[in-house]
Amino acid sequence: MSLNTQILMAAIFGVAFGFLMNLFPQTQFFDVSLYGLGILSSVFIGLLKMLLIPLIFSSIVVGVSNLQAGGQLSRVWKITLACCVTTTTLALILGLACAHIFQVGKGVDVVMFQDAMSAHQTPDTLTPASFFTNFIQNTLINPFKAFAEGNVLAVVVFALLIGVALVKGGDKFRSVRKLSQQFFDIMMLMIGWVMKLAPLGIFALLAKLIATEDLSVLSRLAEFAAVVTGTTIFHGAVVLPLLLWIFGKMSPITFFKGTRAALITAFATSSSSATMPLSMKCAQENLGVRPQTAGFVIPLGTQLNMDGTALYEAAAALFIANLMGLDLSLGQQLVVCATAMIASLGAPGIPSAGMVTMIMVLQSVGLPAEAIAILLPIDRLLDTVRTVVNVQGDMMISVVVDRHTRDDELPEAIR
Ligand code: ASP
Repeated sequence: MSLNTQILMAAIFGVAFGFLMNLFPQTQFFDVSLYGLGILSSVFIGLLKMLLIPLIFSSIVVGVSNLQAGGQLSRVWKITLACCVTTTTLALILGLACAHIFQVGKGVDVVMFQDAMSAHQTPDTLTPASFFTNFIQNTLINPFKAFAEGNVLAVVVFALLIGVALVKGGDKFRSVRKLSQQFFDIMMLMIGWVMKLAPLGIFALLAKLIATEDLSVLSRLAEFAAVVTGTTIFHGAVVLPLLLWIFGKMSPITFFKGTRAALITAFATSSSSATMPLSMKCAQENLGVRPQTAGFVIPLGTQLNMDGTALYEAAAALFIANLMGLDLSLGQQLVVCATAMIASLGAPGIPSAGMVTMIMVLQSVGLPAEAIAILLPIDRLLDTVRTVVNVQGDMMISVVVDRHTRDDELPEAIR
């Protein structure tokens, strides 16, 4: 059985096993199973996280130095950025449009959420200006601190600079370039080993999710959950594949077949960072993206490109406004879009990161930040689908960028 099939089967069995556990709550079977699943999922996630920072560092150093040496860096960089902004803008428009069409939150009684909102600790004000300052302060830091704390963005910036410096130094730094390339190859080899564990990890993560999340909370916000999930799936199943087909000349079937392992992992982990090692492997080995492109675009996209999160934040802001009986003007909706775009750029790829940056979106148009208390109980469940689309976008962009720079001659990687 191929690894792809094993992963799909594992996801199905995981969900089924979670429901089975739910039939026997507070029994020894439940407790023992939960313990076992906890260990299995921690091993899988732990291994992915272990490889994440060294992988991001080496892949960007190698990617940037190869691209820079071939004079391609600025072209790749521009196409990547253009793709990120285009797909995120489309996601924002879609999120707002669907929230309008389905009038999410209108007619729902806000009183039933009063307790949750009053119990919620009001967070410090998060304005775009303070968010930006934090962003800079957390990005330009001691690289060793960044490595130790797993600060992806700071590692990305440091690696970008090293990559450029390696090329500027020319032949003098040839041995460091060779070492970086070999280190990157070692990381990829190790990711291959972790991938073999993916079926077990995914089984455990999904079973645990189903067994421990209270699915009934979804029913209170059923309409909102259905609209957001449906719209996110539409973006991932129609909009992105269409763009891929037009600009990347790749059939959606080839894409989904080749990326299944990463997409299911994103669903199960709700973390695009934890999924990144698999996204990189899938893009290179199954979609044929050149390592230089994948090594540069995917880590960058993991940090900067989050269509699912942007769509969610725009729709959720409108939902909260409707709930409060406020009509957002067109200008306010544009502010929501701009803030949600910044929020999705700055959100780390970890579970529920979007909830934190959501505060900024709400406050930008004067909505109460405590309102996120309404969304928090269902966030872990909604996060699954938006993370899949976040990860899908990164891999899709790597295909488009690769296609549009393929004709440019790249020097052989130094090995
Ligand atoms: N969990 C998402 C991700 O890792 C971020 C979010 O909360 O929207 O991509």
